[in-house]
Amino acid sequence: VSNLRQGAYRSSWFRVARLGRGVFLLSERLDFCPAYETGTVNSYLIVGGKRALLLDTGMGIGDIAAEARRLTPLDVVVVNSHAHWDHIGGNSAFEDIRIHATEAGALEIPVSLPEVAEALVQLERDRTGTAPTAFEPHCISPSRATATLTDGEIIDLGDRTVRVLHTPGHSPGSLALHDERTGFLFTADTVYDGVIWLLGDAAAGEAAVDTSFLRTSIEKLRDLKGRGGQPPTALLPGHETTPLDPGFLDRLARALDQVTEAAARDPNAGEPWSLAGYAGGPLGRKLRVGGLDFLVPLPAPHPPPSSPTAGAGGG
Ligand SMILES: [Zn+2]
Repeated sequence: VSNLRQGAYRSSWFRVARLGRGVFLLSERLDFCPAYETGTVNSYLIVGGKRALLLDTGMGIGDIAAEARRLTPLDVVVVNSHAHWDHIGGNSAFEDIRIHATEAGALEIPVSLPEVAEALVQLERDRTGTAPTAFEPHCISPSRATATLTDGEIIDLGDRTVRVLHTPGHSPGSLALHDERTGFLFTADTVYDGVIWLLGDAAAGEAAVDTSFLRTSIEKLRDLKGRGGQPPTALLPGHETTPLDPGFLDRLARALDQVTEAAARDPNAGEPWSLAGYAGGPLGRKLRVGGLDFLVPLPAPHPPPSSPTAGAGGG
């Protein structure tokens, strides 16, 4: 039996790009797994004078710790923007891991992703022409937060500081980072130019995203000023194209208002949507608004007819 070895992609998995002034993008593709409707996952390394900060550790397919070591000899502080599997996959190789308190517990739960393993086998077939006959399920190893982060906190990397911003919405403990040296605003999954999930992490039993929280967080990023009153120079998102122009914040805020309105007006608006290959029927609906695709929850089931006073005044 030829297994697809864990680590088969260790040396070539990440696309590394220098974004300037000690900031590196470590990007990995997710397009091989069509279920997620996502092209890339973006992690970032910010190198200071005394230590480096790695914002997210990716999907756990390539060895992100080795990539970071190639880029800097300094100790690496990991900040997880949130605890979804595609941003914590490499955590277990690091000693210093920081996250918002509300998501620290989620790091300790292992995650098994059979659909990712299956898609990796297909990718290996396409790449080498040989077919692995079995595969190890792709798993995210548990890790433990060594510190929790709060809004406004400064992380000192030695001659450069990064400010932590709590931006709930995509998930309750979502964080963004503002690098005061470059004006780069690392938005993680609060702001990216791709299919926007308002379904929560259904597989982990998470509730749908409350768009009012997300809306407030986008506004907070839009109003952000650095030292000297300067607005951010670029947005560096957790998925898809990076960097983005800060003007994207306005476009996203407008589209989010429109999609929230459209979904409230017509609970059946858009197309039924499900994970590719998922047999259990639609998980949500897909709506295109303002040039952006959103995945929104299904309409709530009708209230039971046995309680005549519930919803009084609703007609
Ligand atoms: Zn993500």
